[in-house]
Amino acid sequence: TGINFDEYDTILVEISGHDLPPAILTFEEANLCQTLNNNIAKAGYTKLTPVQKYSIPIILAGRDMMACAPTGSGKTVAFLLPILAYMMRDGITASRFKELQEPECIIVAPTRELINQIYLEARKFSYGTCVRAVVIYGGTQLGHSIRQIVQGCNVLCATPGRLMDIIGKEKIGLKQVKYLVLDEADQMLDMGFGPEMKKLISCPGMPTKEQRQTLLFSATFPEEIQRLAGEFLKSDYLFVAVGQVG
Ligand code: ADP
Ligand code: MG
Repeated sequence: TGINFDEYDTILVEISGHDLPPAILTFEEANLCQTLNNNIAKAGYTKLTPVQKYSIPIILAGRDMMACAPTGSGKTVAFLLPILAYMMRDGITASRFKELQEPECIIVAPTRELINQIYLEARKFSYGTCVRAVVIYGGTQLGHSIRQIVQGCNVLCATPGRLMDIIGKEKIGLKQVKYLVLDEADQMLDMGFGPEMKKLISCPGMPTKEQRQTLLFSATFPEEIQRLAGEFLKSDYLFVAVGQVG
């Protein structure tokens, strides 16, 4: 699937919240490291999508965010690039990353297909860095997921059920978690994962919302999602809506 950039010249973007960092117009303005820039070029990306223009500086500024944008608008890269940039800060070395075996970033998406797509993007954009991305989902052996994690994992991509199984078995350290990304949040609620998400943010060892950065993505913005945002995000979170939001 490609992106139709012509459509974006006329698209409506609505932002709310205080102290909004200015949008960027090009990848260069994000000031990412050379390795990330190389990976962007290798992926063939030359222009930012609207959600990327706003989200990348918001996330780089350390702010919590709720973003609503239609499927296919480039939300994955919108959160992956700034998170990888954070992990690459100060040119972190392989030895430091080996030490850091617990995830600094947890990304949750509702289905195996969706989380696997995110994982593949995480692999693609972390190519040539010390960042190790891991994916876990149900329908595979729990032991396999656990081994993946204990071998060292900086970015953990997970479905909600499998993530909570692993946390229940105390096979994962959560104290390093700096980023929590909930993708396709509306779909997660529709599929009945609301309780899992609530358990996740309140489980022992999980950094509080003040200690972590939380990013919520959704294709729609119904009342339940607004409530979720109020509960999961810092009160000064920024809201970004692209296109028609239901
Ligand atoms: P969403 O999560 O909003 O549904 P994705 O992040 O899956 O969208 O992106 C949709 C497709 O567009 C993917 O194939 C992705 O690689 C591609 N893509 C994302 N950003 C860009 C960009 N800036 N330029 C070109 N292609 C892009
Ligand atoms: Mg997506």
